Amino acid sequence: MHCPFCNTPDTKVIDSRLATEGAQVRRRRECMRCAERFTTYETAELTLPRVIKSDGNRERFDDDKIRRGLIKALEKRPVASEAIDQVVNRIHKQLTAEGVREIPSSQIGELLMEALKELDQVAYVRFASVYRSFQDVNAFREEIERLVKATKSQ
Ligand SMILES: [Zn+2]
Repeated sequence: MHCPFCNTPDTKVIDSRLATEGAQVRRRRECMRCAERFTTYETAELTLPRVIKSDGNRERFDDDKIRRGLIKALEKRPVASEAIDQVVNRIHKQLTAEGVREIPSSQIGELLMEALKELDQVAYVRFASVYRSFQDVNAFREEIERLVKATKSQ
């Protein structure tokens, strides 16, 4: 932490305590060069990343959009709403914990696909076929074959 008075990088913490009911750490620092004292506040960064769409536009990350996508993919499938909520929460937590500022929408699509793979394989294939458009037919066939094999070996 640079000293705001003389800009030297050489400052030390002389006191450290929790503030705003533990959501912040308040630190008193002293500059080793000019001996000025100043206070810093440390908070956990829990902002969600902005989503980079395929056209390059940015939009706010939206839980509801994720939820709607999952519900659509799981239409007429035997998956409980709670399981969908859990997935939405998990993705939300994962993204906030990583603290990334921006994430391509394709990466969110991948996260959704991973989640669907666990929830319901039929919905997974349905979603993946639309989402990925399985660029070529072979990739789609391979995925189906892989799933059939996995199901048989269970
Ligand atoms: Zn200083």
